[in-house]
Amino acid sequence: MKTYTGGCHCGNVRFEAEMELDKVISCNCSNCGKRGLLLKFIPEEQFKLLKGEESLKDYRFNKMHIAHMVCTNCGLEPFGKGSKPDGSKMAAINIRCLDDIDPTSVPAEKVDGKSY
Ligand SMILES: [Zn+2]
Repeated sequence: MKTYTGGCHCGNVRFEAEMELDKVISCNCSNCGKRGLLLKFIPEEQFKLLKGEESLKDYRFNKMHIAHMVCTNCGLEPFGKGSKPDGSKMAAINIRCLDDIDPTSVPAEKVDGKSY
């Protein structure tokens, strides 16, 4: 596994994520589709918020299960937080917000979030 760094557009929010970028999820739900999110889900302990707690807004919709963490200054969603059905906490990293990677080079699995 590798440690990646990333953040929102304005730089208020910065984070670190330990993961293997083998594949990402490209979801067509009303939020991901419009934002163009490419998500990688990792256990929450592999995620570390370096700065920007005060800039983040917890945006929720539909079943309100996923906390879409949006920067109140630039409007980007660098990551989200949620739980698996077994209760383990997960972070969903928007790999488009990572530093120095080509997000389109990572194989994307299409998920039909619109139908859920
Ligand atoms: Zn920002």
